[in-house]
Amino acid sequence: MSRFMSRRHLGLEAYVPGEQPRNRAYVKLNTNESPFPPSEGVTKAVQQEAEKLRLYSDPECRDLVDAVAEFYGIDAGQVLMTNGSDEALEYVFQAFGDKFNTFAFPDITYGFYPVFAQLYSIPFEEIPLQRDFTIATEDYRDIGKNIVIANPNAHTGIALSLNQIETIISTNREHVVVIDEAYVDFGGESAVPLIKKYDNLLVIRTFSKSYSLAGARLGICMGNKSIIRDLNTIKYSKNPYNVNRMTMAAGLGAIEEVDYYEEKCKIIAKNRDGLKVRLRAKGFYVLDSSANFLLIAHESISGQRMFEALKEKGFLVRHLDIARLDNYNRVTIGTESQMNRLVEAIEEVIEEESKQGGVL
Ligand code: PMP
Repeated sequence: MSRFMSRRHLGLEAYVPGEQPRNRAYVKLNTNESPFPPSEGVTKAVQQEAEKLRLYSDPECRDLVDAVAEFYGIDAGQVLMTNGSDEALEYVFQAFGDKFNTFAFPDITYGFYPVFAQLYSIPFEEIPLQRDFTIATEDYRDIGKNIVIANPNAHTGIALSLNQIETIISTNREHVVVIDEAYVDFGGESAVPLIKKYDNLLVIRTFSKSYSLAGARLGICMGNKSIIRDLNTIKYSKNPYNVNRMTMAAGLGAIEEVDYYEEKCKIIAKNRDGLKVRLRAKGFYVLDSSANFLLIAHESISGQRMFEALKEKGFLVRHLDIARLDNYNRVTIGTESQMNRLVEAIEEVIEEESKQGGVL
């Protein structure tokens, strides 16, 4: 840190993104990207839009906002498009958080929530997941804080039912409840229909996972019109052109070809459930995920060793440096052939480790 850094940021622990390797062509299963390319219409739309890059993008994202609103059956005024859903989350912390309006979220969840809270000096409470890594909804009843819940939850993949989500929203009417649905298309229940009923609900979505557009950076924030106006106040105070032309074109193209993505989500869910069964048969503890990843721990090989051994064999998974998860790895679900090769590699690791006596 230089001597010029503001004292405000002295203790700030920045978010650490998953590794983006350059030295070797790994089977990349560490950042929950889609193994499938964007649909053809997206590629074409982006190419065509390139000709217009001389012009600023539409700060209101009108075409895309209209398409998203129609897709989800809500009004355009209830939608805000963002530069990845990370930006939507950042706006939420900026708009609704301060010394008195604090935040609560699970202790194991998406790592950016505490980072944004720290960045904007907002006190936060991390509510422990239960022993089985589920969220106890009663812990959030009338909690007197803004709440952020990833559903399905990050790292675990475990989803709450819509009823459970509604209980959290309805028992916290004086605070904003954010449901981060980054992974909902792989098997969760969306809270979007509740937007009409609750003015304290914000639903955040991303095109990064189920729409194969992680590199485009496109997120959606949906909620009551007055909350969306607040978020727009933040946006127009920072970066009115937060979504660039190419990304807007990509998003529009993706919505037009939604069938393609729905089919890919089904394939990913099938591959996930197949992998779960196979890994359980090989001595893994595997959480019941509704997302595009599995959290896995082997009964006799440590998480760190499994991570390293798979990396040596060309498979990059995510080993998280988080209390209670140090024996686990998070594996992004890929194509059927990638999953078959992963299982083969895991079988080799188990055999090699048992020969070397490399047990926990
Ligand atoms: N929420 C959750 C739960 C996530 O896991 C991620 C991505 N890692 C994000 C939000 C952010 O996604 P993006 O900014 O790519 O939309």
